Amino acid sequence: MNLESLSWQQELSRAITDPAVLLEHLELPADVLPGALQAHQQFRLKVPPSYLAKIQKGTLQDPLLQQVLPLGIEMQAAPGFSVDPLAEKHVNPIPGLLHKYRSRALLIVTSGCGIHCRYCFRRHFPYEDNRVNQKQWSQALTYIAAHPDIQEVILSGGDPLLAPDHVLAELGCNISAIDHVQTLRIHSRLPALIPQRLNEEFLQWFTGNRLKPVLVTHINHPQEIDQRLINTLQTVRQRGVTLLNQSVLLRGINDSVAILKALSQRLFDAGILPYYLHVLDKVQGAAHFEVNEAEAQSLLQALRYQLSGYLVPRLAKEVAGHPSKVVIA
Ligand SMILES: *Cc1c(COP(=O)(O)O)cnc(C)c1O
Ligand code: SF4
Repeated sequence: MNLESLSWQQELSRAITDPAVLLEHLELPADVLPGALQAHQQFRLKVPPSYLAKIQKGTLQDPLLQQVLPLGIEMQAAPGFSVDPLAEKHVNPIPGLLHKYRSRALLIVTSGCGIHCRYCFRRHFPYEDNRVNQKQWSQALTYIAAHPDIQEVILSGGDPLLAPDHVLAELGCNISAIDHVQTLRIHSRLPALIPQRLNEEFLQWFTGNRLKPVLVTHINHPQEIDQRLINTLQTVRQRGVTLLNQSVLLRGINDSVAILKALSQRLFDAGILPYYLHVLDKVQGAAHFEVNEAEAQSLLQALRYQLSGYLVPRLAKEVAGHPSKVVIA
């Protein structure tokens, strides 16, 4: 199968969602299957073929595999880890809109994702791919129009790029009609999974209005960046899109100076600047990914000695009720 010839929708529809199939395909020992099935009941496996292709066969410790493989250890309760760690409900003025930080509003475009990351803070609300409906959007747009402080609108999710371009184009057009909004930002994991999502149809609407386009990718490990992604992003950048990346600091995946350094350098190869490195949200089932804050801060300090300042991400965490994300290194 030549993955490059598939459309992004075809890629998504071929995602692997059966733990037994995943283990067999990657030639992994069958003894992890019972645990995988249990964790999969709680938050199901989902991994598209092009991401799978970047995973080394026969290697349980593969850093990409670890992000997607359900494990029995997820079923163990851990103190301080809860089902809804961010308690976002109270910053949700109308359905589909989060206005937590004054100058920017976040619009939840779709609730589905192209991949299921085991550390996801939404793992206990794995709502299916429901798009926010038109009525909610028009309410959200009215809210944004009535709040002149909002200079930037962020399309998020789930993954906003799961929505079809004609829908996003209409939304972008409506946002650009609100004078005080200057910037349209997209947060998406899809570029790292399926680069062909960033096709001409996407670029036409995303770069075709007065709003400054910013794309924030979600990449955690240098092995996620292949030549196909680098080539695609070159075009995206040439069209005037600012590219930033956010990562999550994950035990056993990117919790070393060497990996974080390689990640920043590889991102820069792809024309992306590191933006945030998030400490893990304490969601039940993800405790085994935790890197404590003191260790995270010393990793960042060491990274600063080895990289140019602009290649060092800000180490950030969410603190409920705080007027911005909190940068801790
Ligand atoms: C992260 C986040 C933003 C954006 O914050 P920046 O610091 O500008 O990247 C906006 N709204 C919500 C709800 C967020 O979680
Ligand atoms: S892409 Fe983001 S929202 Fe979706 S499962 Fe992964 S971490 Fe969660």
